[in-house]
Amino acid sequence: MAEAAPSSKPTPPKLIPVRVLVPEEPVSARVGDFREVLHAYSKEEAVLEAQRCIQCRRPWCVEACPISQDCREYIRLVAAEDYDGAAKVTLRENPLATCLCKVCYHYCEDACVVKKKGVPIAIRQLKRAALELGASDLVYVPSTPKHQRVAVVGAGPAGMMAAWELGVRGYSVTVFEQERRLGGLMQTIPAYRMTDTDVATDRARFRALDVTFVNGTKVGKDFPVDRLLREDGYQAVLLTLGTPAHRTLGIPGEELPGVLHALDFLRDLNAGTARTVGRQVLVIGGGDVAMDSVRSARRLSHGGQVTLVYRRSRQEMPADPEEVHGAEEEGVVFRFQQAPLRIVGNGRVEGLVVQSMDLGPPDAGGRRQPIPVPGSETTIPCDTVIVAVGQRADLTGFAPELDLKITSQGWPEGKGTGFETGVPGIFATGGRSVVYAMGSAMEVAVAIDAYLAAKRGAAPTARPDPLGGEGTFHLPPGYTVPIRV
Ligand SMILES: Cc1cc2nc3c(=O)[nH]c(=O)nc-3n(C[C@H](O)[C@H](O)[C@H](O)COP(=O)(O)OP(=O)(O)OC[C@H]3O[C@@H](n4cnc5c(N)ncnc54)[C@H](O)[C@@H]3O)c2cc1C
Ligand code: SF4
Ligand code: SF4
Repeated sequence: MAEAAPSSKPTPPKLIPVRVLVPEEPVSARVGDFREVLHAYSKEEAVLEAQRCIQCRRPWCVEACPISQDCREYIRLVAAEDYDGAAKVTLRENPLATCLCKVCYHYCEDACVVKKKGVPIAIRQLKRAALELGASDLVYVPSTPKHQRVAVVGAGPAGMMAAWELGVRGYSVTVFEQERRLGGLMQTIPAYRMTDTDVATDRARFRALDVTFVNGTKVGKDFPVDRLLREDGYQAVLLTLGTPAHRTLGIPGEELPGVLHALDFLRDLNAGTARTVGRQVLVIGGGDVAMDSVRSARRLSHGGQVTLVYRRSRQEMPADPEEVHGAEEEGVVFRFQQAPLRIVGNGRVEGLVVQSMDLGPPDAGGRRQPIPVPGSETTIPCDTVIVAVGQRADLTGFAPELDLKITSQGWPEGKGTGFETGVPGIFATGGRSVVYAMGSAMEVAVAIDAYLAAKRGAAPTARPDPLGGEGTFHLPPGYTVPIRV
């Protein structure tokens, strides 16, 4: 009998659907203090996990990353045990990599093809492996000085990314920050997820760039923003003001002692000036800030009861599922479909009056609308309430001529091309997560570079290799279009 001709079709790569488990601190140990919950992979674990990546010809993971981090390439290098190479590739596009390898919401993993058959590649955790196993103590190198100065207001992820983008292109950048510490809202992320040292590690790689950070200056209050252009010799200004203020519930009793707002609570906690919490803590909200608040309160309450109150159901909660899972494991109680009506107490908070909610049809954003159930009021006893219902910008001292747009999640943005505001030479942007804020900063830095190049009669500059090599910023082979939402 004649043998069948061999098929000309290439054999598809073998797909391993199960992830190498990320080492975690046991629940019983971690609720006692703020020790780090997730640990790094060992060399062997990292290589095994990296070898699961099938190195797709079209890198879906890279396309989903708001800063186009070439994760496919650093994964390939980890798999080949070239850790120094992997660290270099990681830091080439990502100046906040030490922070992001702990807290990025890993949009890349949602897009990873392996997710169709099992658990996606642990791309964020492999970034951490690249940095911790490879030589990551690198210093960014500026290109030839442009002799043009840029002021950035706000040292959050957007401000730091823009300062890096402009610094490596040879601009002289001053970043004004109202707080004592750098990192913006990353400074409110609890120490069991990331610490000040992570921000400092990333910051240290900036040291050869002409980037100066000026802390403790509130632009708009200490001096008007236009002074930077008119008198101080800056040729462009970027506002990355973010959302440093908290939203309130606007219900009676919110001013009672024992009621805290999440941003203040988390900021004080990281600054070492934490307010105490009682043994019956309620946190109001359903987002990531609420999750950081319940999990922190659980650690501070010495075995007390910590309850999350949310007006919709679990399905509608915007919080990262990993965080919700962590909170559940740590013993946080969830009360869904309960809306706060008033906070009660005699000189201090003693209870929260809530009303049950039914869920109606979805709104424009696809989330089902809460509908009050008449006669369903109850009081939940408590001694501490933490309000985590959103953040907002603080535009004190910024002139209306800037014509800023406030995005749905609260940060101000320029309405013009490249995020230019109503005042020529002043730009503004921000983002809904660390890496999204960095992605918008990438875009705005390109616009600022074009603006400044035109002023000196030159062509815009591509980002040079920030590690001093020959090339310029390039997208990985096979890359098509960014999947940005
Ligand atoms: C508790 C919490 C947990 C979070 N967890 C995560 C997470 O795990 N992963 C993730 O990706 N994202 C997370 N986020 C969201 C993320 O931190 C933000 O999306 C990101 O920091 C936004 O960056 P930004 O630079 O646009 O603004 P911001 O981080 O808000 O930075 C703005 C900076 O501008 C400064 N500033 C404002 N006005 C002035 C002024 N007039 N003068 C001088 N300085 C000024 C502020 O002090 C601040 O430092 C979290 C947010 C919070 C609150
Ligand atoms: S920065 Fe975030 S989204 Fe981008 S590759 Fe890393 S983990 Fe993924
Ligand atoms: S999409 Fe997943 S499998 Fe494909 S290259 Fe990226 S990480 Fe590897």
